Amino acid sequence: MTFNELGLSPELLEGISRLGFESPTPVQAQVIPRLLDNKGDVVALAQTGTGKTAAFGLPILTMLTRDERSPQALVLCPTRELCVQITRDMQAFASCTKGISILAVYGGTPIDGQLRALKRGVHVIVGTPGRMLDIMRRKRVDLSGIERVILDEADEMLNMGFQEDLEAILAGVPDSAHTLLFSATMPRQVAAIAKNYMDHPEEITVGQRNAGAENVSHECYVVHQRDRYLALKRICDYYPDMYAIVFCRTRQDTQGIADWLIRDGYSADAIHGDLSQAQRDRVMQKFRTRSIQMLVATDVAARGLDVNDLTHVINFNLPDDLNSYTHRSGRTGRAGKSGVSVVIVNMRERGKVKRIQKMIGTTFNFRNVPSGYQICEAQLFSLVDRMRNVEIDHRQIDPYLPAINATLEGMPKEEIVKRFMALEFSNLLKYYSDEHHRGPGTQTERPAEPAKAPKTPTPRKQAEQTEHSVQTERPAPPQSPRDARMFINLGRLDGINPKKLGDLINRECGRKVPIRKVDIMRRYSFFEIAPEDAEPIMHMLSKARVGGRDVRVEPVDDQLKSKRTKRTERRVKAKAGKPGKRKPSKGKPGKAKTRKNSRKPR
Ligand code: AMP
Repeated sequence: MTFNELGLSPELLEGISRLGFESPTPVQAQVIPRLLDNKGDVVALAQTGTGKTAAFGLPILTMLTRDERSPQALVLCPTRELCVQITRDMQAFASCTKGISILAVYGGTPIDGQLRALKRGVHVIVGTPGRMLDIMRRKRVDLSGIERVILDEADEMLNMGFQEDLEAILAGVPDSAHTLLFSATMPRQVAAIAKNYMDHPEEITVGQRNAGAENVSHECYVVHQRDRYLALKRICDYYPDMYAIVFCRTRQDTQGIADWLIRDGYSADAIHGDLSQAQRDRVMQKFRTRSIQMLVATDVAARGLDVNDLTHVINFNLPDDLNSYTHRSGRTGRAGKSGVSVVIVNMRERGKVKRIQKMIGTTFNFRNVPSGYQICEAQLFSLVDRMRNVEIDHRQIDPYLPAINATLEGMPKEEIVKRFMALEFSNLLKYYSDEHHRGPGTQTERPAEPAKAPKTPTPRKQAEQTEHSVQTERPAPPQSPRDARMFINLGRLDGINPKKLGDLINRECGRKVPIRKVDIMRRYSFFEIAPEDAEPIMHMLSKARVGGRDVRVEPVDDQLKSKRTKRTERRVKAKAGKPGKRKPSKGKPGKAKTRKNSRKPR
């Protein structure tokens, strides 16, 4: 089928041909004629990245009455990013069609500009539910001319708690308007919206109901909880050209994992709801332009990120709502490319993987976490591959060659290759041959074989090496005066002992975090960690609950500690310095100076 057969205007055909669209995607082939027929409501089950925007955008643009500058179509979608993307896409489809105005309205930005634009008159409004309802309540929009309502990613909007807003908006558009609901999955709430607000909708399923995208393969790594992060790093190392979103469940996890990845020399950043819109835009921009290779994200923050060539989606944690797995994995394998959706689970989560398999009708490929040998081999061949394909700028390089050739004269080619490889790979091989890093799970490490494997395989990018010269898992470092001392609001009364504290930290952080100098008190405790672990641990533990209490971790640091922590710490120090009762010194009872002096070694 071609676009010409679908009954679109010549201007629109010109617009999409400029975008390089040659033939309609399956969802477009099914939905466009149905909407142009203008017969009734439609529920379309389709994944993200299947060409949905054009599927509803092209018929909307075709059917507009351009002379009437009043809203005729309303598109509702879950996030600001998606809202902007849909608007941009529709404007691009209409680039050869004169006099069409499409406006994005979304929160997190001043409303005044949007209200002024509405006043000037628009044909299509693309909005997030919260902002749209706000505008309706201010009575600054006339929806009486709305003929078509599109609910895009309806399941996500409901997941995000927009049900009441959606219902209020739908109640405010004319009954005669036709509604098209798009959803990747069909949970109960979506079915309820369809039942209550749509008139005998026709159901169109593109691909399998609740299915994952066809060109996505699914890989599962089962590891001990404490090895989750280590497994993530190995998987990233195994795919040196990875361009991926790493999904975490909470904002704290997201920030914590990104902090660790950055510290360990990976090209990563985080995106989540605790960031300002400007910060999010900056991170998104870095990711789109590939200045960073990995985006660690919450489900909500990653919505609407229009990146089509992700090689991987990594589920560092499975989503609470397993339906979201379809959305996550659908972010790769787009626009005809293949992709891999990776799941890292602990032993207890294997049941969830089975449920997902059933839901999407695909089997996961259960894999061992790559061994050091496999990683070194993969990195080596990636480097060789890049070396073969590199474009040489002769103008820049040639002037240096005579001197370099003179220096290397007499050295055989094999030796030169070996030495360059050794330079590139020494850190990685050292890391993976270290006894401390036998690797997560049950994977047994294969020793480096000199005949096959390079003696010194490559670490990650050269640039990363210089910035983070040692790209190794931090071994339990010797006690250092620079260690960060931390306060945690759990103590003996909470059943905490040093082992349990260590277990709690490892569990929440998904990796083994060496802790030292643990002081367990009645209601709180102190421990020391490497300074770079302080921030991530505060993030990761702040979501934990023990015995019904929220866990709080703070640095015991002169700049950061709260007064309360300072007082507590002083009390502990005083206790430690003076076994038994603290006696007031003669003459000047209770002065801080007296307490300090009392701790001095004599
Ligand atoms: P969407 O699901 O609307 O976000 O579209 C996913 C991606 O596919 C976008 O980058 C679109 O530009 C692209 N796309 C949509 N329809 C077509 C088509 N018919 N041919 C080629 N690319 C398309």
